[in-house]
Amino acid sequence: MSKLELSHIGKIYDGGVRAVDDFNLTVEDGEFIVLVGPSGCGKSTMLRMVAGLESITEGTFSIDGKVVNNLPPVERDISLVFQNYALYGNMSVYDNVGMSLKVRHRPKVEIYEHVINTSKFLGIEEFLNRYPNQLSGGQKQRVALGRSIARNPQLFLMDEPLSNLDAKLRAFTRGEIVRIQKKLGITTIYVTHDQVEAMTMADRIVIMKNGMLQQFGTPTEVYNFPCNEFVASFIGMPPMTIISGKIQNRFFVWDNLRLKLNSNLYERVKNYEGKEIKLGFRAENISIEDGDNSLKAKVRFKEYLGGSYSLFLMLGTNKITATVDDEIDVDKEFLNIKIDQSKIHFFNAETRERIK
Ligand code: ADP
Repeated sequence: MSKLELSHIGKIYDGGVRAVDDFNLTVEDGEFIVLVGPSGCGKSTMLRMVAGLESITEGTFSIDGKVVNNLPPVERDISLVFQNYALYGNMSVYDNVGMSLKVRHRPKVEIYEHVINTSKFLGIEEFLNRYPNQLSGGQKQRVALGRSIARNPQLFLMDEPLSNLDAKLRAFTRGEIVRIQKKLGITTIYVTHDQVEAMTMADRIVIMKNGMLQQFGTPTEVYNFPCNEFVASFIGMPPMTIISGKIQNRFFVWDNLRLKLNSNLYERVKNYEGKEIKLGFRAENISIEDGDNSLKAKVRFKEYLGGSYSLFLMLGTNKITATVDDEIDVDKEFLNIKIDQSKIHFFNAETRERIK
């Protein structure tokens, strides 16, 4: 059992840099949580405070109801995995994986059983006699995982553990880590700047910006219902297109274009009549379609993705991206497009919050 509660956590470094501000989060036992955000947003600082490697300036951190703010790292029963695998170069894979049991003076036969079971589980049993410099990046990462599993910690903390791997291996190892975590059921906090990792691995995602938590939710929640403009453009590839305009008589108008809003959408924004507002939609919510309420877009260029095209278009003065089936003829100077109105979001131009 390990349920984490972070309550009003703040971090101010010596010299006055505020890295984390009023951060609140409850992590349920066995959950896989990903902290994601741009570089410098405070992710690693959060993780290091949870690990006990960094002091907590404000707020309380508790594990299973017990406040651990001042508990030293070794007493937190936490296992850390970083991007630089931190394997012992002068020890074989076998000794690396068995290390934590050895330092606890466990009997040799227990270490043997443990190393064999863990390495089978991770698919590294054929490398047990090798040394770290005889392994690929992906193999090293699995050994590092093996070493952290061996401790059977109550909490896994991982800081960008895949960033040294090439793209293909990264995609594979993502799945492996999730599989292992689910099997062991150990509560995990994983830090990354890569929203794809966040979306594919997390039970729930924490999106951070400037030391502040922006949104906490499942991948589908944060994708479909981003709380603000930042989350809308940070989560999802390509980012959500966001256009500034005005509401005028049931129309969203910008440049010399106008989009008639259906009654559901208009209901949401009717209080903004005449005011600046932002409209957002995703690449897959665009269809190439002529007719009532379609918009004329100029084609800039296309990228073939196999099965679909990414189309880069101009809609008035706004650059937009559309993902369309590769059976559609897109080799034209202009295309008529429709935006699925059930997927349109509006954002308050001042607060940048999504209008609900
Ligand atoms: P991230 O992991 O999201 O890239 P960090 O947690 O490393 O962000 O950093 C958050 C902020 O705190 C940044 O502005 C960074 O410059 C600052 N920072 C990080 N470590 C220290 C430190 N030891 N002393 C002073 N400022 C720091």
